[in-house]
Amino acid sequence: MNITLELGDDYTEIREQVRRICEGFPGSYWQALDEAAEYPDAFVAALTESGYLGALIPEEYGGAGLPLRAASVILETIHSSGCSAGACHAQMYIMGTLLRHGSAAQKAQYLPKIASGELRLQAFGVTEPTTGSDTTQLKTRAVRDGDEYVVNGQKIWTSRALQSDLMLLLARTTPVDQVQRRTEGLSVFLVDLREARGRGCEIRPIPTMINHNTTEVFFDDLRIPADTLIGEEGKGFRYILDGMNAERVLIASEALGDGRYFIRRATEYANERRVFDQPIGRNQGVAHPIARAYAELEAADMMIRKAAATFQAGADCGEAANIAKLLASEAAWHAADTCFQTFGGFAFAREYHIERKWREVRLFQTAPISTNMILNFVAQNVLGLPRSY
Ligand SMILES: Cc1cc2nc3c(=O)[nH]c(=O)nc-3n(C[C@H](O)[C@H](O)[C@H](O)COP(=O)(O)OP(=O)(O)OC[C@H]3O[C@@H](n4cnc5c(N)ncnc54)[C@H](O)[C@@H]3O)c2cc1C
Repeated sequence: MNITLELGDDYTEIREQVRRICEGFPGSYWQALDEAAEYPDAFVAALTESGYLGALIPEEYGGAGLPLRAASVILETIHSSGCSAGACHAQMYIMGTLLRHGSAAQKAQYLPKIASGELRLQAFGVTEPTTGSDTTQLKTRAVRDGDEYVVNGQKIWTSRALQSDLMLLLARTTPVDQVQRRTEGLSVFLVDLREARGRGCEIRPIPTMINHNTTEVFFDDLRIPADTLIGEEGKGFRYILDGMNAERVLIASEALGDGRYFIRRATEYANERRVFDQPIGRNQGVAHPIARAYAELEAADMMIRKAAATFQAGADCGEAANIAKLLASEAAWHAADTCFQTFGGFAFAREYHIERKWREVRLFQTAPISTNMILNFVAQNVLGLPRSY
């Protein structure tokens, strides 16, 4: 396969424009939201207005119609600027399921409004409290009843459900003991949360160590129109899997951006801070961990570019996308912890923003998929080792 990677600062104009938007949202903005556990409405509004949230929506539906690599650059730049796209990034990749598998009517109804920001599709209901990473065992049921489906069950960690108009919901439509393979019998629905809330759908925030606006969602005989089904009934798991490689690349880009933020902050501080009459960065015990974390980020960057290019070429990018997410999440964590150590006691002071970003970057090793599950993928699907579970 012939794919070409661009090195260095590709999409320079996008990087510059995103950087400029981010300048309006300094650390103090994010710190105040973190302390109040509030949603970054102003930041999301600015990003929506700029059109960057609709980067991957085709032009015919009012989006920018850009390749995945451009979206990856947007998210990396948001994070390297010290901001966080966690409040709205899902819109970029959840939309892909609707775009690839939705009917012409569904696409015409929703995509232009998502592109303009009139509708927010930011909630993705997959994970459940009792089944976790074992997605095909999820217990939420959607049972057809005339022109409707009746939904019962519970989701957990459904981020931004309280700030979203629409939710992409994965539910079982055929009981697991009536399908040949457990990946069958799952279906995807586009649930209108504005209609659903209070009518069989209850959303409760989960207090967490980061400001991620995440929730539990309870379904109790929620009735949704049958035409909210995306694609064919029973094929939902495949539709969700289709979107996961793009999601991995985008999440890896955010982790990379965070890593670059930490390297910049650590380097500046190590040059400025003088102890024992010299900058602390002159000590190799301070400089080497920063250099090592930088090297790890550069490797992750290459893998993200490879994954995005492979995705764009229409080839199977599962291996590259998973490895990119693995490397970027770990490199970002090493950069965060190195920066934390470099700042000494000041890392703990909120006004420096290191402790907040350090808490935030930890998530990438757990969600949207934990490190072990990526290693399982590589071990089984790339190397051909036996499945352990
Ligand atoms: C802040 C936050 C936001 C989130 N947002 C969303 C969202 O918007 N939508 C959504 O659907 N989900 C969301 N998630 C859920 C997230 O995707 C899951 O937490 C993650 O996939 C891990 O699932 P789990 O928490 O159930 O862990 P479990 O599946 O219980 O796993 C626990 C640990 O055991 C390990 N493990 C389990 N099985 C194996 C195995 N076979 N081999 C090796 N190790 C194994 C895992 O790697 C992990 O380390 C979010 C989570 C968090 C914390």
